[in-house]
Amino acid sequence: MAKKIKQIAIYGKGGIGKSTTTSNISAALSTLGYKVMQFGCDPKSDSTNTLRGGEYIPTVLDSLREKPTVKASDVIFEGYNGIYCVEAGGPAPGVGCAGRGIITAVELFKQQNAFEKLDLDFVIYDVLGDVVCGGFAVPIREGIAEHVFTVSSSDFMAVYAANNLFKGIAKYSNSGGALLGGIIANSINKPYAKDIIDDFASRTKTRIMQYVPRSVTVTQSELRGKTTIEAAPDSNQAKIYIELAKRIAAHENSMTPSPLDAAELREWAAGWSDQLLALETGDITDKGENI
Ligand code: ADP
Ligand code: MG
Repeated sequence: MAKKIKQIAIYGKGGIGKSTTTSNISAALSTLGYKVMQFGCDPKSDSTNTLRGGEYIPTVLDSLREKPTVKASDVIFEGYNGIYCVEAGGPAPGVGCAGRGIITAVELFKQQNAFEKLDLDFVIYDVLGDVVCGGFAVPIREGIAEHVFTVSSSDFMAVYAANNLFKGIAKYSNSGGALLGGIIANSINKPYAKDIIDDFASRTKTRIMQYVPRSVTVTQSELRGKTTIEAAPDSNQAKIYIELAKRIAAHENSMTPSPLDAAELREWAAGWSDQLLALETGDITDKGENI
């Protein structure tokens, strides 16, 4: 019997670090011996750049615009350590649904049995988090991905996007949709940032998969067109990504999250605002740093 391919989707607000984190997870999984495909679903089409030395690859939608039939092998490119890289692509700016690329690319690969032929262990979809368009919800709704992880910092807009994603997951959870694996907490450098994201995870009945600090090693690696796993394999940051990849590989039981409604989210945010103000005025101390 063919082995089961673990299909994972990573969602989050634009610019929050999805592609950076996803590429490092893919790179880490490949060094652990797994066969991985990273499937960029953001119309920005830059998901796989750091797996390919900073190079952009032709997207599925672009290829289909050029010729009527496209073979899966025309749009799958090998990157770092044999990782298969795909970019779904987007419509011409201002025209059509931005989620079109995902639907088209997934359909193309299904028809051609591409995943099975490549004997993959993991397919990781890197998806823009604002689930405003049906296309972006496809990996969740159609049960293409089994587990969803969200990248979020402790910033309110990132948490807001994560909470919206949780609403989407909860909505499709009874009809075969993907469930939530957990939160990848990115850019967590201050104790209060950890406290905020921990609190959000507990309020929404989910868990934190890993705390990833903001690190200049990531910036340096990116400027050389590489993941941190490739450019700085012995760094502390690489170790953090490898631990995250191991947790994702071992992860089995995803859950339906409990998103906050608008009033609850407001109240939750206001509570943290008061706490941060108290921290600033010295009425309370930041437990991680001072005591
Ligand atoms: P997204 O895919 O969510 O739009 P990116 O992965 O492209 O976001 O990240 C946006 C920017 O933030 C990139 O320049 C990236 O290098 C930087 N970045 C993300 N995470 C980190 C981190 N942990 N440390 C340093 N820089 C980071
Ligand atoms: Mg991205």
